[in-house]
Amino acid sequence: MPDGEEQQGYDGGPVAALRRIAFLLERAREDTYKVKAYRAAAATLLPLDEAEVARHVAQGTLTDLPGIGRSTATVVTEAVRGQVPARLARLEAEQEGPLAAGGRALRAALRGDLHSHSDWSDGGSPIEEMAFTALELGHEYLVLTDHSPRLRVANGLSAGRLARQLDVVAAVNAHLAAGAGTGAGVGDATGGAGFTLLTGIEVDILDDGSLDQSDEMLARLDVRVASVHSKLRMDAAPMTRRMLAAVANPFTNVLGHCTGRMVTGNRGTRPPSEFDARAVFEACVEHGTAVEINSRPERRDPPTALLELARDVGCLFSIDSDSHAPGQLDMLDYGCERAEAAGIDPSRIVNTWPRDELLEWARP
Ligand SMILES: [Zn+2]
Ligand SMILES: [Zn+2]
Repeated sequence: MPDGEEQQGYDGGPVAALRRIAFLLERAREDTYKVKAYRAAAATLLPLDEAEVARHVAQGTLTDLPGIGRSTATVVTEAVRGQVPARLARLEAEQEGPLAAGGRALRAALRGDLHSHSDWSDGGSPIEEMAFTALELGHEYLVLTDHSPRLRVANGLSAGRLARQLDVVAAVNAHLAAGAGTGAGVGDATGGAGFTLLTGIEVDILDDGSLDQSDEMLARLDVRVASVHSKLRMDAAPMTRRMLAAVANPFTNVLGHCTGRMVTGNRGTRPPSEFDARAVFEACVEHGTAVEINSRPERRDPPTALLELARDVGCLFSIDSDSHAPGQLDMLDYGCERAEAAGIDPSRIVNTWPRDELLEWARP
């Protein structure tokens, strides 16, 4: 969204103001549960007509509506009166410009994001909110990659739930296409035209290196990210065998956050897994599997030495946000900064490719 809303007034309306505040808070790494009040208020207002909202503002009865408290009512009141909500103005000022100093040319070259989560697994927002935000950021596509069944703590999707999710993704795309046609899309910044929500999965790499979803379901998806989430402290030899098997699986397109390390954040820190990185990266080259550059500040995975090794071995890369909330979609900035610092050629980064080329590469 442009940063052009200045003192002269605000015509975005209350829903856009509430969504933008939520986005900016998440982008600044506030916990998504703290942001929920803004999204809940936006959801309450969305179905109401303008006159009804204006009546609540005039009568001071906004807080009678479900999900609207004092601070969200203030935002709504200011927006309805055509003023930039003070909370929004403050956040816009605090967060002007990209998240990272480097990597801007690369960020501009990225067409989309191959790794994101919705509230179907452990993300904080509905599928459509993730899609609309990606569209507003100028993405051509977003791959929805909710977790696989074995990751129960993250509410991983069974084959049945994944099949239902594919129908929802199709419905979201149909809605976006209809909005683009009439100029009435949610994304006023770029228009809905050309954006597609792609289907995918972040599939667990099981202990023996097999993937935690049926071949039949994996075959129906556009893109598959395979990641280790369990037994991260396995000895190097079996961990190497496990990862080699996953990387060689014809369904695997991207090796997600390869070391599993955590360097900061409220989930604590965790050392990287141990494995023969050269052997794994050589297998990635052989099988055309991309090594993920996970942009999340708490992951920064792979660590720099491994990122440079993967570069020297000749790997493809995918710069992903691994977003669990809409505001985290912008964290691609961090991954771009690291990729540029490592001198990785943009042509080796699969999300700089045209979408059709990407989909062709991803096909098993
Ligand atoms: Zn993961
Ligand atoms: Zn993930």
